[in-house]
Amino acid sequence: MAVKTLQEYYESLKELHPTTYILGEKVESPHEHPLIKHMVAGVAKTYDLAHDSEGKKYLVADSELIGEEVSRFVKFYRSRDDLIAKVRMLKFLTQRIGTCVMRCTGMDAINSVGVEAYNCDKKYGTTYYERLLDFVKLVQENDLVVFSGVTDVKGDRSLRPSEQKDPDMYLHVVDRNDDGIVVRGAKVHQTGSLCAHWGLIVPTREMREPDKDYATCFAVPVDAEGVIHVYGRGTLEARALGDCDLGNVAYGKFAPMVIFNDVFVPWERVFLCGEYEFAGPMVRNFGNYHRHSHGGCKCGVGDVLIGAAAAAAEYNGLSRVSHINSKLAEMIKTVEAIYGCSIAASVEAVSTESGIYMVDPVLSNTSKLYEGKELQEAIRLMIEIAGGMVADLPSDKDIEDPEIGPLLRKYLKGAEHVSVEDRVRLFRLIEKLAFESRDIVSNIHGAGSPETHRMTVLRNADIDAKKKLAKNLAGIKER
Ligand SMILES: Cc1cc2nc3c(=O)[nH]c(=O)nc-3n(C[C@H](O)[C@H](O)[C@H](O)COP(=O)(O)OP(=O)(O)OC[C@H]3O[C@@H](n4cnc5c(N)ncnc54)[C@H](O)[C@@H]3O)c2cc1C
Repeated sequence: MAVKTLQEYYESLKELHPTTYILGEKVESPHEHPLIKHMVAGVAKTYDLAHDSEGKKYLVADSELIGEEVSRFVKFYRSRDDLIAKVRMLKFLTQRIGTCVMRCTGMDAINSVGVEAYNCDKKYGTTYYERLLDFVKLVQENDLVVFSGVTDVKGDRSLRPSEQKDPDMYLHVVDRNDDGIVVRGAKVHQTGSLCAHWGLIVPTREMREPDKDYATCFAVPVDAEGVIHVYGRGTLEARALGDCDLGNVAYGKFAPMVIFNDVFVPWERVFLCGEYEFAGPMVRNFGNYHRHSHGGCKCGVGDVLIGAAAAAAEYNGLSRVSHINSKLAEMIKTVEAIYGCSIAASVEAVSTESGIYMVDPVLSNTSKLYEGKELQEAIRLMIEIAGGMVADLPSDKDIEDPEIGPLLRKYLKGAEHVSVEDRVRLFRLIEKLAFESRDIVSNIHGAGSPETHRMTVLRNADIDAKKKLAKNLAGIKER
């Protein structure tokens, strides 16, 4: 049963009891909460599609580790084809879900940790890579969801972890014994932590010798003692509580804060502990992989933006208008550039010593830079095409009201062939695509802030070689 069904995924969640706070309440069954169930439904859809004849081609892969078919979400990237397949899978899924699928952070973390656990073992004779393989076997055999905890709360950004006034601003080891370690700290914006079974925790930045207690990486069940999930609010969510005016009626994204209140982690789940020089590469690998994942998932959402804009034009009676077609072409250009750079980053990938393939960092970060800036322009164009109705549609409850409803239906009519209900649904979706804080902000800050992407591009782009090209052509001799 290496690839679970939708039903088996829902059953597996019943065995979990994560400590959860949502809007001031301690919640016993978070997976059924009205603010969480749409998010769980998105992840459940990934299980469902793995058993669909078309979806299987994208979502199921052979595992060299357990010799069975497994979900691509829990597989090591053993080739360029694996990396290309990941981007295509994410595009396929987000075209159908229209928002985050919340399983790719774990997939990217497994691989980024794998590369550095292997390197660390080589340098120090540790056994982190073997432990990671055991963990990944468990994840593959049970087709589990893993969230990845990278981002610490970080306190004063100008200070290093060991310089902070409160030592818990970055997650760190506070105790250790023969059985394992005890960790304290908090990871913020943890996409899908409550849809997951395990968390894979990765350092958030490079570390130096005084920071070595902060250089730790480990796996922990989402309901381990001391792990606390606190729901983070997003735009438009109050509507989910009333179950109306939803926009994307089935799926959503969320990213709680996860607090580690003296959590015990047995040694067999610890993949880095004190070897500080591997913290930076681990998080940089994660960033490169994860920006590459965004190239797949955000272009799938981009296709939904384009489709929504074109449908809005049709519903407004403007199917064949040249300025609208030209704007649609601009949107397509951006979305395909994001996708194309991620595919190219896979094609140019190279094998690391562990046998895990690493994407081309310049191309994967270029894809993410396009997403951070140009996707916003595509969203603006979607709104420009759709019109002001995106901002302030009357509520579903008013439209259904026997008194005011008939008048609203009369005045909300667009093109003759389109029902008012469908027009309202489409505008709600556009509103959600344009203004849902977690989607919009993750275009910019998800997988790291844009400055990090620029720095990675510069660090890897070999500007000196490019200067040499220009000087050669200009006939300038190097002194
Ligand atoms: C919706 C969403 C989902 C996310 N999902 C996940 C997830 O699943 N897992 C996860 O681990 N993380 C996740 N993230 C976190 C994301 O990676 C971070 O938001 C991102 O790395 C930026 O970190 P920050 O928010 O702490 O901002 P900051 O680091 O505070 O950055 C804010 C600004 O300050 C600048 N800055 C920061 N420090 C310095 C400095 N020392 N010198 C100069 N400039 C500086 C940055 O460049 C940026 O412009 C998610 C974020 C969002 C919005």
